[in-house]
Amino acid sequence: MENIIRIAVQKSGRLSEDSLSLIKECGIKFYNGTGKLKSTSTNFPIEFLYLRDDDIPGYVADGVADLGIVGENELVEKDKSVDVLKKLGFSKCRLSLAIPKSQEYPGLSYFEGKNIATSYTKILGDYLKANHINAEIHEISGSVEIAPSIGLAEGICDIVSSGSTLMMNGLKEVEEIFKSEAVLISHKGLNSEKMAIVEKLLFRINAVQTGKSNKYVLLNAPNESLDKIISLIPGMRSPTILPLAQEGWSSVHSVLSEDQFWENIEELRAAGAEGILVVPIEKMVI
Ligand code: ATP
Ligand code: MG
Repeated sequence: MENIIRIAVQKSGRLSEDSLSLIKECGIKFYNGTGKLKSTSTNFPIEFLYLRDDDIPGYVADGVADLGIVGENELVEKDKSVDVLKKLGFSKCRLSLAIPKSQEYPGLSYFEGKNIATSYTKILGDYLKANHINAEIHEISGSVEIAPSIGLAEGICDIVSSGSTLMMNGLKEVEEIFKSEAVLISHKGLNSEKMAIVEKLLFRINAVQTGKSNKYVLLNAPNESLDKIISLIPGMRSPTILPLAQEGWSSVHSVLSEDQFWENIEELRAAGAEGILVVPIEKMVI
């Protein structure tokens, strides 16, 4: 099929929900019944493949899927040739080295000549090489945290988000070696018809992401402080000013990043702004 693109998303796991919500927020409708391995959108030329995240980089590199959503950790580990189109800002985590809590940690030299258990042999191997540490990498595919307690390894390298799994297994995090978030990847060398569809999708993703990082702000202010307030919340082109029913007052509407809002809140209030409302933006096209 020429005029449709295929995207590989994780079937079930820590990437699935956010991947599918992002697509839905782009206004793309589809049905994903549990257990389904494939579905097609009813209002956008896109087909979904539901896969294990391990398989996504390979499917995209081979062209079985045109696009994929996967964690950078999995992408770098699988070492497949694909293009990264966009960082997506969710499924953030890190890969870290951890050792038993009771051990002194003198620095990376701790690992010299030791056994390290991990599912990330490539990322860990590259890291150790770059740091001139000779250690034995022991590949295991899951439950890496128990390796030290059963005598399989002296340290581990695994995904950490809060650190509670490490703690429960008597381990402590000693080095962060890789930071990861979900990314949108594409097959290298898509034809121009497919590229045109990918561009449309990217346009929508950008609108959703820009919307999320900005807020619509409404406030009331006495007319004499409007100049000051406009300078604090300049908005996209310039703020909208509407007269209030009460003489001498106006309503000011503007768009600004959430950070900018918090940075300027005291000054806004000092300038006389009151009745401040901050409203989420669903989509934003600049
Ligand atoms: P699959 O069955 O698809 O192979 P999995 O068990 O390998 O799934 P998950 O645990 O669902 O993988 O994690 C998927 C990805 O989500 C990871 O590769 C990583 O990028 C990210 N991730 C892992 N743990 C967390 C976490 N605690 N918080 C946020 N993101 C995470
Ligand atoms: Mg996996």
